[in-house]
Amino acid sequence: MSARVLVVDDVEVNVRLLEAKLSSEYFTVITASSGPRALELAQSERPDIVLLDVMMPEMDGFEVCRRLKADPHTAEIPVVMVTALSEVADRVRGLQSGADDFLTKPVNDVALFARVRSLVRLKRMMEEWRLREEVYGRFDTVIAETRRAEDKSPARVVLWEESGFAAERVTEMLQDVAAAVLRPTAPEQLREMVDGATDLVILSLAGQQDALRLVAQLRGNEASRLVPILLIADSEDLPRLAKGLDLGANDYIMRPLDRNELTARARTQVRRKRLQDRLQDNYQRSLALALTDSLTGLYNRRYLMAHLGGLMTRAADGAQGPAVLMLDIDYFKRVNDQYGHAAGDAVLREVAGRIARHVRAFDLVARYGGEEFVVVMPETQLAVAAMVAERLRKVVAAKPVTLGEELGELELTISVGIAVTREGGDSAGSILQRADKALYEAKGRGRNCVAGSMAEILPVSHAS
Ligand code: GH3
Ligand code: MG
Ligand code: MG
Repeated sequence: MSARVLVVDDVEVNVRLLEAKLSSEYFTVITASSGPRALELAQSERPDIVLLDVMMPEMDGFEVCRRLKADPHTAEIPVVMVTALSEVADRVRGLQSGADDFLTKPVNDVALFARVRSLVRLKRMMEEWRLREEVYGRFDTVIAETRRAEDKSPARVVLWEESGFAAERVTEMLQDVAAAVLRPTAPEQLREMVDGATDLVILSLAGQQDALRLVAQLRGNEASRLVPILLIADSEDLPRLAKGLDLGANDYIMRPLDRNELTARARTQVRRKRLQDRLQDNYQRSLALALTDSLTGLYNRRYLMAHLGGLMTRAADGAQGPAVLMLDIDYFKRVNDQYGHAAGDAVLREVAGRIARHVRAFDLVARYGGEEFVVVMPETQLAVAAMVAERLRKVVAAKPVTLGEELGELELTISVGIAVTREGGDSAGSILQRADKALYEAKGRGRNCVAGSMAEILPVSHAS
């Protein structure tokens, strides 16, 4: 994953150090040496994340953070405070000013990359969901107006802590956040307890059980996949902690525990979870608003056009635009002719499912027409789009579709056309048209293949 990182520090050496580390992992780095400059760059360069020094003359990091979070244009950008001291008071003040996380100088590489990646990933997902929310708003103003207010009810927290004494302390500290803290005593019990209604799981790395395995299991399980995980670690646990974050834990806190910090971190995670839930509800709403296709369950053309229109507008602001794949089942008419319309429908459902299962959560899959599908991938370049297109082509061709006892199995293929956003102005209609043209090329080449029109491959400035 590549991302744009804004590094802010008044000391040149610190800036260079972080810049070197981040560049070596292929992040794009933008730098600022003062608070006011950071605010300017956050507006004009739209970074994916800000690493912010706390102690700076003129305007300190807390103030910069507060201003970033107060401005709707920059409020969504995750901010990581980089503090010289691991002062608990600083951390709490940072969280109060809206910071998403902390790093302590000297910055540990593993923690740096784990946290930057996890925050950028979360930001991308949030942006995508938010855009969908806007699209729904356009279809139904009543829904937009009656958006649920933020749910401030006490949270449902599950705590894994083998020591009874430590567990009681944590529970006591969480009084203001949690209605009840459930305490499973065996891994199976933990897995059973954690479901979509759980707001937060807190896992202590200390103890007999391998807590990292528990993180992996929770992330691998559909019901607990998106539930926030907060790790509790001792200072000698740093390597395991980094592993835990890599495995999908969202945050951590070090012992000795500070009540304010624990409360703040728990609250942040709970808020994030509830926002996520609300945005996810969109899919349910889309069913009610008839924005999905009843045969395949995918989004329909009407929704696709609204969504893609929104993405293109955003791309016009300078962000990387989306890539579009247009997929069409080869010789589909024969399926209907030879096996009947019902079998044709079953094939459509199966192909739709295979496509939907093999793209990322924030990619959008829609049924465009009869046996044509469209995949929209936000912020995606041609090389990546081509890779996904080829993956989807293979996924359909690899295994025949089972039509049931009588009809047996049926070999199928698809052809795919790719188009990416053109710099200097593009539209939903135009990108779809180019994807369609590319699809036509793929058909012309004999089907079961992927094509991008020449205009997509030639340098943009010569294309039109
Ligand atoms: P090509 O390889 O060129 O794409 O050939 P094709 O036969 O797939 O393409 P064509 O566009 O000629 O045929 C598409 C067929 O899809 C025609 C139509 O009857 C069928 N179709 C469209 N919608 C549905 C549907 O909802 N259910 C079923 N069973 N068939 C459908
Ligand atoms: Mg076809
Ligand atoms: Mg067709």
